[in-house]
Amino acid sequence: MLGLMQDFPLLVHRVLDHAARWHGETEIVSRSVEGPIHRTTYSEINGRARALASVAARRLGVGQGTIVATMAWNTWRHLEIWYGIMGLGAVVHTLNPRLFADQLDYIINHAGDQWIFVDLSFVGLFEKLQDRLPRVKGFVVMTDAAHMPAATTLRNPVCYEELLAQGDAGFAWPQFDENTACGLCYTSGTTGNPKGVVYSHRSNVLHALMVSLPDVKAISSRDAVMPVVPMFHANAWSLAFSCPMNGAKMVMPGPKLDGASVYELLTSERVTLSSAVPTVWMMLLQHLETNPDLHLPDLKRLFIGGSACPEVIIKFFGERYGVDVIHGWGMTEMSPIGSAATPTAATAALAEDGWWPIKLKQGRAPFMVDMKITDDAGQSLPHDGKTFGCLKVKGPAVARSYFRDEGTQAFDADGWFDTGDVATIDPYGFMHITDRSKDVIKSGGEWISSIELENIAIGCAGVLEAAAIGLPHPKWDERPLLVIVRKAGAQTCKADIMAYMQGRIAKWWLPDDVVFVDEIPHTATGKISKLALRERFRDYRWPCA
Ligand code: ADP
Repeated sequence: MLGLMQDFPLLVHRVLDHAARWHGETEIVSRSVEGPIHRTTYSEINGRARALASVAARRLGVGQGTIVATMAWNTWRHLEIWYGIMGLGAVVHTLNPRLFADQLDYIINHAGDQWIFVDLSFVGLFEKLQDRLPRVKGFVVMTDAAHMPAATTLRNPVCYEELLAQGDAGFAWPQFDENTACGLCYTSGTTGNPKGVVYSHRSNVLHALMVSLPDVKAISSRDAVMPVVPMFHANAWSLAFSCPMNGAKMVMPGPKLDGASVYELLTSERVTLSSAVPTVWMMLLQHLETNPDLHLPDLKRLFIGGSACPEVIIKFFGERYGVDVIHGWGMTEMSPIGSAATPTAATAALAEDGWWPIKLKQGRAPFMVDMKITDDAGQSLPHDGKTFGCLKVKGPAVARSYFRDEGTQAFDADGWFDTGDVATIDPYGFMHITDRSKDVIKSGGEWISSIELENIAIGCAGVLEAAAIGLPHPKWDERPLLVIVRKAGAQTCKADIMAYMQGRIAKWWLPDDVVFVDEIPHTATGKISKLALRERFRDYRWPCA
């Protein structure tokens, strides 16, 4: 017997239609690439997204299944392109500008992108790269006629605002199946070539509902939300969908992500919730430390993920400014949110010293994410908070394969996706990432968590950034080397760091050496590139090995 309820396809442009209809006057405030602050509303964005869809179909030949790339910061224009292209049944492929030219040309050709929408900041990059992109028909420059570069050598350059002026704001969205692809995002490919994750309308709508839940980001129409995490980093962690779904005001930071610029918008636009990787919050932390008169009167929640969030960040914002820092975890393959460390009734009843170590973990799975840890043979491991194993996930917003059937070994016959992370799950259900499987340090057959070492080292005065890698050792197979970037002017030395770490971790976890560098290499998604670090220290010799 079937239920007798109505159905409508879960298409992402319905989210924008809802925002325009019921929250039409709610603002989207952006720091534009051209400079000034720009203000618009959901109602205007909806009209412009429809206008773009109509003209993209007519003039650019975009239709169902066409892949259109964007290389753009978080602004209102990126949002309307996002909905306009997806609303046609076409696919938005977000390009990360931090990728190397070789990676960019690989993924653009691999995806078969037909048009690329670019912010002014990236015109020069594509003028150089376009000869390696023979299938790209042309470039739409996301600006107005006054700022359009007159002498650009881009192939078929189109001015975005001029294009849009020819569109029809009353364009009716076509109807299609909710499983139609709408987004494409490549993982940064720390091993092998980048692999494409293909989101569907349905997966994005379900994921946005999940992210909105009170135990995840708790987004409401009373919030002003600033996605500092870029739209090219896995859907701005759903905020490009979940904000309009809930009618929340959006504050888009554009190209300026430094501490001072982020602070300025947080306060001037009265932001209540923001999301970004720990590096961004470290920059804000430094800005606030050097300007102790500054306050964060409206900010209530910070959602932090992408790499492990150091305790100092959670403490600093919590104790000084009363901001609840929520640690989360996810992956491009998971749309991307997989967990959030918000309290349950049982953990809320714990005393502060009982709850604190749990709050530092990556958190628990919301509805629609199924999660388990297994040994190498695939057997499930207990949730005792100590046993660690391969973290595997399932759910309607988790990839079931990569684009063009690559990387099939990550998916097993029962549909579980192997995240490549190593984790524990405690009796309360809180998951803790110990490491990425390829980054764990194996010393004398036992595992040392590189993340744990980094999190502790970053708490030592004078340390700006810390990375731990395992290097070959004649006796123990591998031992940890700690690589440190000092804060400007700090004199912190090896003895200071070792003294700070002693007693905070098991003795045999202590690094065998500490080296100081000017800069630690990062991947395009802002994570420490352990691959590049291991390469850099390939010829390193232990002091007394
Ligand atoms: P990429 O692999 O392309 O850098 P992702 O953003 O998809 O991009 O990276 C996902 C990985 O990032 C996870 O598998 C995990 O290793 C790491 N990660 C994400 N959030 C956290 C977190 N809160 N703590 C530790 N690691 C994290």
